[in-house]
Amino acid sequence: MALIETKGLKAFYGDFQALFGVDITVDAGETIAIIGANGAGKTTLMRSISGVLANDPGSILHNDAPIGALPAPDVLARGIAMVPEGRKLFPSLTVEENLLVGAYGRRAQGEWTLDSLYALFPVLKERRKSPAMALSGGQQQMVAICRALMSNPSVLLCDEISLGLAPAVVRAIYAAFPRIRASGASIVIVEQDIGQALKVAGRVYCMMEGRITLSGRASELGHDEIHKAYFGAE
Ligand code: ATP
Repeated sequence: MALIETKGLKAFYGDFQALFGVDITVDAGETIAIIGANGAGKTTLMRSISGVLANDPGSILHNDAPIGALPAPDVLARGIAMVPEGRKLFPSLTVEENLLVGAYGRRAQGEWTLDSLYALFPVLKERRKSPAMALSGGQQQMVAICRALMSNPSVLLCDEISLGLAPAVVRAIYAAFPRIRASGASIVIVEQDIGQALKVAGRVYCMMEGRITLSGRASELGHDEIHKAYFGAE
């Protein structure tokens, strides 16, 4: 039994259909990447799993239970937390206050505390009294990740966490992933940087126009088949 499974997942914005029967699985403890060009449907898939978008109940399963129609707070209470695209921090709250917001309704089992999160990204301890808007983009992304971890998730959904950040900052953020994995969480990353995705993930799904066009182990996918699945080019 997969930890998360989507089965023929369809998603709509009004009359506009963004997902056309997406099937993915996420097993306990694994890291998967969703890659694809702008508009492929990656964010829609993340928003569907996290309950921001409502779907057919049985089109998303968590430990075999239908969660497709659950609202976001109920999905979070089941241990599925999202780091949203664009971070969505509370800009005038301090770093620490943003992290404490993430603790609201957190699961009792789990190891994340302010202290263990500050150990993950020590710079956040130095900046803990600063308003989030005073931080650099990379530091804000660290806050967004830690805010999600504060809920003690068993699944962490990360939407485009490297977007707009310098390579050294991206490396610093991904350097924290082994520690996050050690907490037992499965990780799903949405990445436009294919090289980064293949480095971090055990398995990769490629999307195009609302469909999965390729999936497989990161170590086994060839450049040409990824290119074709990503761009649709021959
Ligand atoms: P990006 O990298 O640009 O975030 P993506 O792969 O995450 O791309 P989505 O954001 O999921 O793609 O978008 C999938 C499709 O749904 C696109 O055609 C997009 O224009 C459309 N879409 C996304 N959000 C909305 C919305 N709020 N209302 C209407 N259409 C939307």
